Amino acid sequence: MKIEALVRENIRNLKPYRSARDDFDRGILLDANENSMGAPYQDDLELNRYPMPYQEELREKIAIFREVEKQNVFVGVGSDEAIDLLFRIFCNPGKDRVIVNPPTYGMYKVSANINDIQVDEVLLTEGFQLQPQKILEAVQPETKIIFICSPNNPTANSMNIEDVVKVLEGFDGIVVVDEAYIDFSGQESLAKSIENFPNLVVLQTMSKSFGLAGIRLGIALANPEVISYMMKVKAPYNVNKLTSKVAIQSFSMLENITSNIKSILEERQRVISKLVTYESVDYVYPTDANFILFKIKNAMDVYKKLAEEGVIVRYRGNEPHCEDCLRLTIGTQSENDRFFEALENIR
Ligand SMILES: *Cc1c(COP(=O)(O)O)cnc(C)c1O
Repeated sequence: MKIEALVRENIRNLKPYRSARDDFDRGILLDANENSMGAPYQDDLELNRYPMPYQEELREKIAIFREVEKQNVFVGVGSDEAIDLLFRIFCNPGKDRVIVNPPTYGMYKVSANINDIQVDEVLLTEGFQLQPQKILEAVQPETKIIFICSPNNPTANSMNIEDVVKVLEGFDGIVVVDEAYIDFSGQESLAKSIENFPNLVVLQTMSKSFGLAGIRLGIALANPEVISYMMKVKAPYNVNKLTSKVAIQSFSMLENITSNIKSILEERQRVISKLVTYESVDYVYPTDANFILFKIKNAMDVYKKLAEEGVIVRYRGNEPHCEDCLRLTIGTQSENDRFFEALENIR
């Protein structure tokens, strides 16, 4: 497959902005109109200077952690930036289309709408699995990207890997597999499959398993050609110095991250075991993520009354196959206990 042929013509021909730091990054730096007197307070980050455009050190850390090469790694301002860039690289506004598999993450559609890209929907099955045959049948000449979320939000389950592979093999366009929750999952990441599938883009993030939603650091893993287009189209200084410092440091704190994941998985089991004992709870869906989707009688009412009790969950009852469903993030032990207390108070 030729990636180049999938890329919008204006992007293929784009001469990227060359930042001052592309050519020289040491010496007497009088090239970028920075404030040479310094930031208002002193620290070791030299915040009066622009950040490095390509984040080599951070990308190297991510590459080692995910067992890929640095040239396979893009970093951006959350996964949301990566999603937006993929639209801008591969989809012509007002002409091209993408396929999503609802119920799924809402951002794909919003980002498509912002970019004036048509969204075709192929529902997941009632068991929240992909329908690869139907997806491939829905492909039109203008279809450029298929979005797959695994583990999926809001359903919490992982997609069957054989179905993902069927889509990857059957589609001559970009397949995005969003792995925001992969570190909570029993399934392996597809990160290493980018070697075998030039059309595969794996999205990851520091917002969930790394516990760093506040720094806004999203990751795309793909073959070097796709990554270099993402680098070319992104804003030159997209990832700021504060973010990259914290992100880099997090790789020397992997023990904390692993132990937090373990605590979440233990709490998840405890919450499921308790939730299924409630008479009002009709079904707790299998989960591979740090949240649970469950069906409860009068979900909208429960949602509102929980909020009155100070416990905020997400109502997902308007999503296909999700009638009367609530989505519950696994909290700390005491937060989860408060959730159950609130649930009992409203009965
Ligand atoms: C939370 C989440 C993300 C993370 O987005 P960021 O912009 O990186 O915070 C990505 N995809 C899905 C499906 C999510 O639920």
